[in-house]
Amino acid sequence: MTEPTSVEKLTTWAAGSENPVVQFVRTTLGPLLLILITPPAAIIFWIVCTFEPFNGSLAPLLTSAGWSSVAAHWPWPSTSAAGIVLIFAVFEALLLQWLPGKNYEGPITPTGNRPRYKLNGIAAWFITHVLFLGCTFGLHLFKAGIVWDHFGEILATLVLFAMLFCLFLYFKGRYWPTSEDRSLSGNFIWDYYWGVELHPTLLGINLKQLTNCRFSMMGWSVIVCSFAAKQVELDPGGHLSNSMLVCVALMVLYLFRFFWWESGYFTSLDIMHDRFGYYICWGVVAWVPAVYTLTAQYLVLRPSDLAWPLAAAIFVLGAGAIYMNYAADAQRQRVRATDGASSVWGRPPELIRASYVTADGRQHENLLLTSGWWGLARHFHYVPEITLALAWSLPAGFNHFLPYFYVVYLTILLVDRASRDDRRCHKKYGAAWEEYCRRVPWKIIPGVY
Ligand code: NDP
Repeated sequence: MTEPTSVEKLTTWAAGSENPVVQFVRTTLGPLLLILITPPAAIIFWIVCTFEPFNGSLAPLLTSAGWSSVAAHWPWPSTSAAGIVLIFAVFEALLLQWLPGKNYEGPITPTGNRPRYKLNGIAAWFITHVLFLGCTFGLHLFKAGIVWDHFGEILATLVLFAMLFCLFLYFKGRYWPTSEDRSLSGNFIWDYYWGVELHPTLLGINLKQLTNCRFSMMGWSVIVCSFAAKQVELDPGGHLSNSMLVCVALMVLYLFRFFWWESGYFTSLDIMHDRFGYYICWGVVAWVPAVYTLTAQYLVLRPSDLAWPLAAAIFVLGAGAIYMNYAADAQRQRVRATDGASSVWGRPPELIRASYVTADGRQHENLLLTSGWWGLARHFHYVPEITLALAWSLPAGFNHFLPYFYVVYLTILLVDRASRDDRRCHKKYGAAWEEYCRRVPWKIIPGVY
C-alpha cells in the first residue's frame, strides 16, 4: 500500500497550534468526545420531544425519572426503518443519475482535480415531494405522518448506519481512493472523524453530492412535511397550527433555495475543503435529521396558534433572511463567473486578484470581492443564516430551550467556521488575504466581531 501524498495535512481547526496538548485536544480528545456524545444526543432529543416526563423540556434529564424514560423509550434500528431509509436513498441516487441536468465542474482541488456534479436538484425536489404527496394523499399507500410514526427507529438506524458508513469511507479512502485528494494523519480517531478523501465516488456517483444534498437536505424537507402532516392527523379537527405552518414553510423554502443554488454549494467549505468523514458524513446523515428538524419535531405534539400578524411577521423575517443569505452567496459566485464584469449593488465590484498554487505546481487566480455583502464583513452571510434559524424557532414560543438548540449550535458552528475559513484562505492566498482582512476587518458582524 502506498501512503497518500498528503497535500493538506491536519488543516482546519487542528491547525494553527504547535502546542502538543492543544493538538491532542483538537485532533483526538475533542473528536472522540464528539463521536461518543452526538449519537446518543441525537436520540435523546427525540425522546425529550416525544415522551413524558419531558414534554419538550431538557430539565428531567437531571432526574432519575428522566433517565428511566430515556431507557424505556430508547429506539433501536429496525427493518421497517432500514427499508424506508434504503428506498429513499436508492430513489434519490437514481434521480441524481438519471434525471437530465447540466454537468458542473467544481472548484479546482488542492491536487489540481476538478470534481464533477449533475445539476438536477430542482427536478429531483419536485419529483420527490410530488411522489411523497401522491403516495400518501393520492394512492393512500401510507400515511403522510409515516416519518414521525417511525422516527425513533429511523434515527437509530441512521445513527448506526452512518457510523458504519464512515468506517467504510475510511478504508475506502485508505485502500481504494478515488483520487489523490486525500490525506491520512496516521491518527485513526482524527482520520475517522475528519475523513480521508475529499471527493470520494462510488459506482460513478459523487458521494458528497448524493449524501449531503440528495439524501440529507432532501430528506430534511420530506421529514418536516411529514411532521406537519402528523400534527394534522393527530388533531381531531384535522387542523394545522400556524406555528407549525410558519416553521415548516421556512424550512422548506430554505431547502428549495438550496437546490436552486446547488451549484453554489459546491463552492462551499463542506464540499471544497471538509473531507468526507464523521464530521460531514455522519453529520448530514444522522445529525441533520435529528437536530435541524428539532423545532418541527417539538411542534408536532405542541400545536399552538399565533396571532396571524405575528406569524406573518416571523415568516417575513425568515424569508428576508433566506433572500439575504442567497443574495450574498450568489453575489460572490456571479462576480467570479463573470471575472468581475458584473455590478455589485449598482457599482463595479471592488476586487482583489489572489493567486495560489496547487500541488502540481500550477499557479491559478481567484477573485476576492471586497464590496457588497463581502465588504460588510468577511462572513456576513452567516448573520442571515442564524436569523433564519431563529425565525423558524420563534413559533415554538419560549417555554423550553430545545426548539432553540439548533440556533445555538449553528451560531457556535459558524463562528468556528469563519475562523477556519480565514485560516484556510490565509494559507491559500497569503498576502492577498491579508489585504482583504485589512480592507474588510470584521469576520461576521460589522463593528462587533
Ligand atoms: P462560504 O460561502 O463562506 O465560502 C467560503 C469560501 O468562499 C472561501 O473558502 C473562499 O473560497 C471563498 N471566498 C471567501 N471570501 C470571498 C470573497 N470575498 N470573494 C469571493 N470568494 C470568497 O462557505 P460556507 O460553506 O461557510 O457557506 C456556504 C453557505 O452554506 C452559506 O450560505 C452558509 O450560510 C451556509 N451554511 C449553512 C450551514 C448550516 O448548517 N445550516 C453550515 C455552514 C454553512 P475559495 O477557495 O474559492 O477562494
